[in-house]
Amino acid sequence: MKNRNLLLCAFPAFTLAFATQAIAQYPDKPVTLVVPFAAGGPTDRVARDFAEALRKALGGQAVIIDNAAGAGGNIGAAKVARAAPDGYTLLLHNIAMATSPALYRKLPYKPLDDFEYLGMVNEVPMTLVGRPSLPASNLAELTRLVLAESGKMTIANAGVGSAAHLCGLLFQQAIKGNMVAVPYKGTAPAMSDLLGGQVDLMCDQTTNTSAQIAAGKLKVFGVTTAARIQTPQLAAVSTFDEGGLKDFRVAVWHGLYAPKGTPPAVLDKLNAALKTSLKDADFQRREADLGAVVVTDDRTGREAHKTFVAKEIQRWTSVLKAVAQSTE
Ligand code: ASP
Repeated sequence: MKNRNLLLCAFPAFTLAFATQAIAQYPDKPVTLVVPFAAGGPTDRVARDFAEALRKALGGQAVIIDNAAGAGGNIGAAKVARAAPDGYTLLLHNIAMATSPALYRKLPYKPLDDFEYLGMVNEVPMTLVGRPSLPASNLAELTRLVLAESGKMTIANAGVGSAAHLCGLLFQQAIKGNMVAVPYKGTAPAMSDLLGGQVDLMCDQTTNTSAQIAAGKLKVFGVTTAARIQTPQLAAVSTFDEGGLKDFRVAVWHGLYAPKGTPPAVLDKLNAALKTSLKDADFQRREADLGAVVVTDDRTGREAHKTFVAKEIQRWTSVLKAVAQSTE
């Protein structure tokens, strides 16, 4: 009996020592990075480039991409919210973390309660692009067409709450136009349909549209930045301001998250690895080539990332109340 008690007393100390050792060795197996949109799209593109930098920053440990796409990013986000909080399942998510609360009556996770915030990654401008056969070649012609065809033209998105959805809603609000939204599991599959002419328009990140624009495979109606984007692929694309639509600005930010309850020592390691990754020369070059801006301010810190997202939730909740109706 005495021996048994002794054993029971020793057990917590043993598990604690084991846990401490496991944290010290973290990561000693591959880390899964959940991407809540389809493979080959803009979030996937950022995630794959970032995963390579993160792999180096984590001492060479593999970072495996898991595309858990659907419902504007909510399926992947919910998957990570429910994952074991051990640092081996992470989420790379975008602005949908802040737009979904305004657009879904029932979200399968709580953005501010169910995650540990690990720092922001980048901000990516958007472009409004159209099928090659669209009978409009600039923003003014497009605006006339959308108004004339009221409620008939189609605009693709990556699900309710996605960046493409948000940008499309804001565009329709800005021109007082009305289009039919066509949701996909990501803008990669939407891009195939746009190129094939099955859908008329899409607002999407430069990380997904630069190559198609440069190759002249799509009509392009503007970039959402104040000044033109100075990359070889995008320098010829006019801003919305130039096209006559003032102050139409949308930048899609991405951040890194872990399930709530992940040990603080693991979070510190991941935050340090994120900061190292953002300084990786290959990552910086790839982002710059696509018009994306790597975050360098204090939002690479855990607290500032969370504060920023909390503010974004407030901002988009009031903006979207005015432009969209709630969905399930
Ligand atoms: N990031 C895109 C969006 O939110 C979707 C995607 O990556 O496929 O619209």
